[in-house]
Amino acid sequence: MAASCSRQQVCILGSTGSIGKSTLDVIARNPEQFAVHSLVAGVNWQVMLEQVRQFRPRYVVMNDEQAAKALRASLGAFDTEVYVGVDAMVQLASDPEVDVVMAAIVGAAGLAPTMAAVHAGKKILLANKETLVITGSLFMEAVKTSGSVLLPIDSEHNAIFQCLPSGYGAGLEQVGVRRILLTASGGPFRQSPVASFPSVTPEQACAHPNWSMGRKISVDSATMMNKGLEFIEACWLFNARPEQIDVVIHPQSIIHSMVDYEDGSVLAQLGNPDMRTPIAHALAWPRRIPSGVAPLSLADIGKLEFQAPDMARYRCLKLAQDAARSGGTAAAMLNAANEIAVDAFLHRKLRFDRIPEVIDATLQTLPVMNASDLEQVMAADRQARSTAQQQVAHAQNAS
Ligand code: NDP
Repeated sequence: MAASCSRQQVCILGSTGSIGKSTLDVIARNPEQFAVHSLVAGVNWQVMLEQVRQFRPRYVVMNDEQAAKALRASLGAFDTEVYVGVDAMVQLASDPEVDVVMAAIVGAAGLAPTMAAVHAGKKILLANKETLVITGSLFMEAVKTSGSVLLPIDSEHNAIFQCLPSGYGAGLEQVGVRRILLTASGGPFRQSPVASFPSVTPEQACAHPNWSMGRKISVDSATMMNKGLEFIEACWLFNARPEQIDVVIHPQSIIHSMVDYEDGSVLAQLGNPDMRTPIAHALAWPRRIPSGVAPLSLADIGKLEFQAPDMARYRCLKLAQDAARSGGTAAAMLNAANEIAVDAFLHRKLRFDRIPEVIDATLQTLPVMNASDLEQVMAADRQARSTAQQQVAHAQNAS
């Protein structure tokens, strides 16, 4: 079926999460331009029920069967169809009626539907950085072949995208870019003694000073693995070599990243730290629409600070940069080991300071392979998950 009306039909993968809710908020502010075609989530059927009541999607997919049953039983007169599982997600993400796919499922779980949307040539709003980190060149090749339009949602990458000229895909040097300056807030433990890391709790790690986010990315921000994953993501998105990207700590999160040109100009994108800005930018690109974000007042903020990252404090950032340099399956293994370690930390089975140890030990154990097809990459992902589980058990026994 072809899209039947002029409003863009949006499918949101991960609608019950932080990015999903912000996306729905921006759509609600611009109802004449966007309609919700379909919503996808994991288990949280109560939030999904509220979303169905407000946005009336045609289709919903839950990953969890019980959640889908509970949702169906509560829908009453609504004619939204509810499905279960990854195959249904893949089908929706590539449905001919869909124009735009917001890829905001957390972790590797987002890979299959996001790839399906790419192969179907959709306009992809990419929040799920893990998919690009895992599949790298395969993902970018598929975007090129399918003619998909790829717009970054991560605030840093969205900022870089806004500061780059067209034609950067041919190489940053070709368009006069010297380097990309990827900013990082430094997370909640920027000034805490490293000696206090063993006693950090999930609640402390999830309390980000500037951004309100899901639990996994909040822990990634605390360890700076989030910046590491973003570093790898930026290499792929902007055709940059690792040495063309510098990480700069900027605690206020007002500058979302910068591009340094060879004539000495540095272009930056600024704004209040609210994900509705990059979401609105990508939804409407190349136009602009209201996002609900308060105007920036630099006078109220007063000062913007910058410093180089302390690599002894942020071991996960170093591990990710090394994986970017290694290439092949290294980034997929890093991501898999990180997902296992963060999950164990959130379930109080692993100390905060042991997250980088588990990832490092996993990467030391496994060889880096060629990442030329998806099966190879997924085999590396599975192997890294199993090795990381063993490392978590080992770290528990050593406590
Ligand atoms: P949340 O944890 O808040 O939300 C995750 C979403 O994914 C939920 O809707 C969840 O559903 C869904 N989900 C989880 N597992 C599955 C599954 N197996 N199948 C289908 N849906 C699933 O995460 P965020 O919104 O914070 O982050 C989402 C992605 O965006 C991540 O990749 C993150 O790195 C990235 N990102 C987030 C930013 C932010 O500010 N939050 C900024 C930049 C990038 P349910 O809750 O119902 O189980």
